Amino acid sequence: MTKLLFLGPPGAGKGTQSKILADECGIPHISTGDMLREAVAKGTDLGVQAKSYMDKGELVPDSLILDMIRDRLNQSDTANGWILDGFPRNVSQAEFLDKLLEEMNQAYNRAVNLDVPDEVLVTRLLSRGRADDNEETIRRRLQVYREQTAPLIDYYSQHDTLVTVDGDRPILEITNALKEVALQNNRSI
Ligand code: AMP
Repeated sequence: MTKLLFLGPPGAGKGTQSKILADECGIPHISTGDMLREAVAKGTDLGVQAKSYMDKGELVPDSLILDMIRDRLNQSDTANGWILDGFPRNVSQAEFLDKLLEEMNQAYNRAVNLDVPDEVLVTRLLSRGRADDNEETIRRRLQVYREQTAPLIDYYSQHDTLVTVDGDRPILEITNALKEVALQNNRSI
């Protein structure tokens, strides 16, 4: 059963690759960023509260994110696996996820770090045109990544679950490398 966490800076290709892989594996692609953008578009309470953080390139507070991910992982379409894209984003979210999965008698297979050099990230983000892809927000998102999300690389390497994949090459090559990861590291829980 494939249960992967996708780490990596903004612009690394987490969204693109995790979507392709989830489709190929027939399992849900769970992106907290997509879920938040949907909440913003619908104007729900969560969306209203999350929007100001997203517009600034800050992380949305854990108090808003953790219930959302718990509810999502408890939905029935997750029975055959899942790919988490953009969660966890800091160490406290990672600790929460460890506890949540334990309570659910589940485990993830690997935390995948998509590795892309900084200068490539900025070029990619500037060409993407999403609402939060202006230069100032991009700079802040990269800084937030370095300060709060990059420590997860150590966190997962200490748990012996980290795998780093070179994300600076053609999309198909990256997808193939990720398929290998999904195949090699499946353990049924
Ligand atoms: P993404 O689509 O993953 O780049 O996320 C877009 C924005 O949504 C981020 O800049 C954050 O403001 C927010 N966001 C997404 N996932 C999380 C998360 N796990 N924790 C906190 N904020 C998040």
